Amino acid sequence: MEGRYGVYPTDEPIEKHTHVIFHLTDGTELRYRDVRQFGTMHIFKAGEEWNLPPLHKLGLEPLDPAFTPMALKNRIGDKPTKLKPLLLNQEAVAGLGNIYVDEALHRAGLHPERPANSLSAKEMKKLHDAITTVLQEAVEAGGSSIKSYVNGQGEMGMFQQQLHAYGQTGKPCRTCGQLIEKTRLAGRGTHYCPKCQRIPAQK
Ligand SMILES: [Zn+2]
Repeated sequence: MEGRYGVYPTDEPIEKHTHVIFHLTDGTELRYRDVRQFGTMHIFKAGEEWNLPPLHKLGLEPLDPAFTPMALKNRIGDKPTKLKPLLLNQEAVAGLGNIYVDEALHRAGLHPERPANSLSAKEMKKLHDAITTVLQEAVEAGGSSIKSYVNGQGEMGMFQQQLHAYGQTGKPCRTCGQLIEKTRLAGRGTHYCPKCQRIPAQK
């Protein structure tokens, strides 16, 4: 999300929204800034972090070989929850923020309001592949967050130039030319193509 770490000399003025400062042994400071305050920090004894909240509930890493279409189906296939909030909550799949969920659903051709348990095996496979592809592309491009993201070295992520849905409201869909629409879902701006990501008629 918007939280961000940076290494600074101690005499560098502290920027607004800096919430935590680690004083490092080499005399520099590791500072954590978080404008929207979505970030949390927790202290654990070494090795206990995966057994205690909040990490004990963390879902599969999309770029881990254990993340297969079957693993995704096992995690979400029975859930009546809508895809957008389900993918955002980190318990099914870890590491998907608002941008990546919109992008993955667009590439999979799935409406963000589809309940997870309404997906066919083929659609589940498409969703799996879209999640993996989007994250791989983003990693290669160096991250995405629109205005504020820079990595530890201060470089802007370039993935934003490859966005198909997120932030594309009113622009033509790259797949079909229909204009991308924006709605609010799970409290978050949600971007989708009304043609490629239709909700199928009830059978
Ligand atoms: Zn489209």
